[in-house]
Amino acid sequence: MKAIYPGSFDPITYGHVDIISRARQIFDELVIAIMVNDEKSGSFTMDERLEMVRECIRDYDNVSVVIGNGLTVDFARKIGATVLVRGIRAVSDYEYELQLATANMTLAEDIHTIFILAKPEYSFLSSSTAKVIAKNHGDLSAFVPDNVARKLREKYR
Ligand code: ADP
Repeated sequence: MKAIYPGSFDPITYGHVDIISRARQIFDELVIAIMVNDEKSGSFTMDERLEMVRECIRDYDNVSVVIGNGLTVDFARKIGATVLVRGIRAVSDYEYELQLATANMTLAEDIHTIFILAKPEYSFLSSSTAKVIAKNHGDLSAFVPDNVARKLREKYR
């Protein structure tokens, strides 16, 4: 079974990596889709995000990464994925994720959203937190992989 893990990945964090490492054990194939989002301009370009994700999944043979556009469910169909993976951190994510999943279910009965939990130590970790730490020159080692920490330091030097 093929699954899609869509998101902004601006940039990828250890929370995302944890979800990826679990999802790849459940599904035969996992496609990470960095989705173009006109509502959010983002800190890194799509190509920078792609490159960072690519380095993080180098050792995972059944995981790939692409840039996606349009509605997530349409994109999922286009690549032949029937499962849509999302992560839930704290209760605060629940309402937003429920809204998204319900909308996607209404749009596409054939695509199924599955929520995966990350390790508790990542439950308060987001791309925005990593960026705030980077802006203030804090230690990023517990939050993002080394290649991402390097890019964040370069950006906020
Ligand atoms: P989006 O803009 O679509 O929310 P993100 O890259 O912020 O994109 O997140 C993609 C998915 O990964 C979301 O379902 C989000 O809840 C999940 N996620 C992000 N960080 C974590 C984390 N630390 N633990 C668990 N899930 C996470």
